[in-house]
Amino acid sequence: MGLFDRHAGLLDAYRDVRTTGADPFQIRMERVLSATEAVINGRKTLLVGTNNYFGLTFDPSCMEAAIEAIRAEGTGTTGSRIANGSYSEHVALEQEIAEFYGKKHCMVFTTGYQANLGVISTLVAQGDFLLIDADSHASIYDACKMTQAEVVRFKHNDPSSLEARLRRLGDRPGNRLVVLEGIYSMLGDSAPLKEFIDVSKKYGAYVLVDEAHSLGALGEHGRGLCESTGVLDDCHFIVGTFSKTLGAIGGYCVSNDPDFDILRVTVRSYMFTASLPPSIVASVRQALRVVKARPELRTKLWENVATLYDGLAARGFKLGPEHGPVVGVHLPDRSTAIGFWRAMLDAGVYVNVAVPPATPNGVSLLRCSVSAAHSKEQLAHMIEVMTGIGRQMGLLGPQLRAVAG
Ligand code: PMP
Repeated sequence: MGLFDRHAGLLDAYRDVRTTGADPFQIRMERVLSATEAVINGRKTLLVGTNNYFGLTFDPSCMEAAIEAIRAEGTGTTGSRIANGSYSEHVALEQEIAEFYGKKHCMVFTTGYQANLGVISTLVAQGDFLLIDADSHASIYDACKMTQAEVVRFKHNDPSSLEARLRRLGDRPGNRLVVLEGIYSMLGDSAPLKEFIDVSKKYGAYVLVDEAHSLGALGEHGRGLCESTGVLDDCHFIVGTFSKTLGAIGGYCVSNDPDFDILRVTVRSYMFTASLPPSIVASVRQALRVVKARPELRTKLWENVATLYDGLAARGFKLGPEHGPVVGVHLPDRSTAIGFWRAMLDAGVYVNVAVPPATPNGVSLLRCSVSAAHSKEQLAHMIEVMTGIGRQMGLLGPQLRAVAG
């Protein structure tokens, strides 16, 4: 058996996709024009699938900060913080993120994926229990593979399912760590966090919340679902990413645990990879200042979410369960989703196509992400294009056609 034989099924499916000329994995952004536009296949394309929630990738102050940092400190750190040491700016960034959350400690990682992978797999060990939502992100599932703790899955967004699992563990010794997400990345739904916290407290479980998609978007100060649901003090660990609202790359974990810093010499995805380059650290520090100073970006984001979500819903699309910066559009099957995605791209609108096994419950989706940088006109255009294709493909029912005019 050859090394790649075990992927035969996937290879066949992938070959099919490629021969139709609709390969979502071969997209080339030939030129990125702004936070909301790029040239793809020679055509100016509207971006509605890049997690650029505040549009900060082209924020002049963040760009300037990055450029200055390159001039001052060079292009990279060329090693891990364990081997090459920390730059003052790494430490400053960690202090600023800790302060932002009102927590004592923060560790910065090179990606959010590495933050989840390393922190979760290290916090629990043999004899402990790791309780995860069934719809958890791949980085959380991968952490499960790396830990020796017993992994227990509960039903998506269902505190009673978590309670049943915790009850069943009874008085077996060992720590319990519950892992949740602020906003889920495929359908844009948020966790009933207060209820989850109540259950976790009742059973003495620690809670870690991944705020990858909710940083900036939720809470009075943009601290995420923990803030908007009033449970910041009850979340033992908050993980997040710099790659979405903050427009760069990197990840973090904050906590009040007095021994938190021991993770710096135990988490392998922190110790054995190069640290963030000065330009990224500088642009992230500036992006955090922008998040604090410009709450109107959050207001604009939610106005745009309402425009896109309500516009698509009114035209008959079946969407994720609630308003959120991620809008998942349900389609009947994988090939319809890929065909629809391709038609959107040909019409100059880029969204994500998400199909099994990357999606919960085997659903096929077009995954849209909204940005504060989108204009009303751009969103109206996006809705018009999507509705036109939906009609052409016979996916919108007659009564819904009437709504769509
Ligand atoms: N957690 C969630 C819920 C995510 O959606 C993502 C990215 N898609 C990550 C973690 C990883 O973030 P990063 O891009 O920083 O690796």
